[in-house]
Amino acid sequence: MKNVFDLVVQNNLCSGCGVCAGVCPAGNLAMEWNEQGEYMPTDQGRCIDSCTLCLRVCPFYPGNPDENQLGKERFEAINSMQHTPETGFWLACYAGAVSDEIERGKSASGGFASWVLGELLANGFVDEVICVEPNEDPEKLFRFARLDKPEDLERARGSAYYPVEFSEMMRYIKRTNKQFAVIGLPCFVKAIRLAARADKTLERKIPFLLGIVCGQMKSRKYTQYIASLAGVEESLEKVYFRGKRNDAPASDYNFLCRGISGKEGKISWTEGVSRIWGDRWFTLESCGYCDDIFAETADAVFMDAWLPEYVNDSRGTSLAIIRNPEILKILERNSGSQLDLSRIPVEKIIQSQQGVIENKRKVLSYRLSSRPKTIGERPLTKRVPPDVSALNCLARYHVDAVDSISSETRAWDIPKESAGEFRARISPELKRLQRISKIVRFASLPRRAAGKILRAIKKKAGRK
Ligand SMILES: Cc1cc2nc3c(=O)[nH]c(=O)nc-3n(C[C@H](O)[C@H](O)[C@H](O)COP(=O)(O)OP(=O)(O)OC[C@H]3O[C@@H](n4cnc5c(N)ncnc54)[C@H](O)[C@@H]3O)c2cc1C
Repeated sequence: MKNVFDLVVQNNLCSGCGVCAGVCPAGNLAMEWNEQGEYMPTDQGRCIDSCTLCLRVCPFYPGNPDENQLGKERFEAINSMQHTPETGFWLACYAGAVSDEIERGKSASGGFASWVLGELLANGFVDEVICVEPNEDPEKLFRFARLDKPEDLERARGSAYYPVEFSEMMRYIKRTNKQFAVIGLPCFVKAIRLAARADKTLERKIPFLLGIVCGQMKSRKYTQYIASLAGVEESLEKVYFRGKRNDAPASDYNFLCRGISGKEGKISWTEGVSRIWGDRWFTLESCGYCDDIFAETADAVFMDAWLPEYVNDSRGTSLAIIRNPEILKILERNSGSQLDLSRIPVEKIIQSQQGVIENKRKVLSYRLSSRPKTIGERPLTKRVPPDVSALNCLARYHVDAVDSISSETRAWDIPKESAGEFRARISPELKRLQRISKIVRFASLPRRAAGKILRAIKKKAGRK
């Protein structure tokens, strides 16, 4: 009998969530770092014949229900629920930011996600919150942690663009009777929903499952590489990905790090990090086959307010889609003293994530046709069909170049090659990608200009 290791991991489609390892009845799957600096389940040779549980909880296994079906099962029957193809189900959409400047400063964007988690804990909706916190172990700079006091959520604010895995937490949830609120990336949330389908007790134990929008997940080499750009080329003991700057828009933040010798480094998004992010250096291959933009199976999903009306506020603002009526009530009860909230149309949410939507729809459609995946006998199917013409010829050329850089960077052999040597080796390919990017930007000028003019006209018409 084949398991998740044979069918998903071997096909580079695992996102390392660890839910399979957490539910495996034989303890056959152990989460370990692979050579790419990603968490992967490894097969310990104890697999039970005919047990398919690891496959049934895998968010990338094609035989499982997709986000449409899981979303329907959880949300469709709820009063006033609405649905949009890009976002999945929604009850209400908000822009929000906590009013405490210190708390907001520590959060990735407006601190909305931590505020909701704090309310769930403080008002006894759950016994513990499971979220991601920093960890001063150079081998594991972030981890999932269980927090039972709202004030402990302070140390978990911010975004971890660093692999974390859920196996230990899943084992804990299964053996206790407590109730939890969990926050995770879309694929993690989907895996937990699938696990709750297989084991109904999990539905009661996890009454709140929150998501964060995810454009892509990075391996731990991403952190090591940008630390080297920041001047710290040694093992790290602390990193912070979203250091806010009061002299720049919210989208231009600092990466801060400290090495084991105490050496500190800092580099901003516009000093080269944005290119590394956008060109998908060190991005997990599975992320290229994900079609869930807004964590469609989560009770609420949080994201950055990448909109012109918010982005210039360097303190950051969060947007959220709410799908759970209890969370909606909590927000409606908020007096406004702790969280500045305003309702926004779903179109604004969609507008804020245009890049991610393009990647997880058109680019995915192209990728499925140009680099299809087969799992066992089954082709990997997603909610968009394989279609080579989803992108024009220039865009296809660009995606091919990005995917090639992405796989080159995943294979960076850190102990053998310094960051400088690595950069020099891939420099011809980088230059080629930069040339293609310039041509793509140039070719899209008329479309972007037309969009700008249209938005200005709409804004003017709205003011009248
Ligand atoms: C890998 C990744 C990619 C992202 N991509 C996008 C994107 O493309 N567009 C966009 O708008 N937003 C993206 N986000 C979300 C964004 O960075 C913020 O998390 C979001 O705006 C919420 O911010 P906040 O200030 O409301 O939350 P905060 O108050 O900062 O709280 C964030 C909560 O999320 C938890 N958390 C942080 N990292 C992780 C993680 N890796 N896994 C699980 N939980 C975590 C923390 O423990 C904390 O509880 C991404 C986040 C991650 C981790």
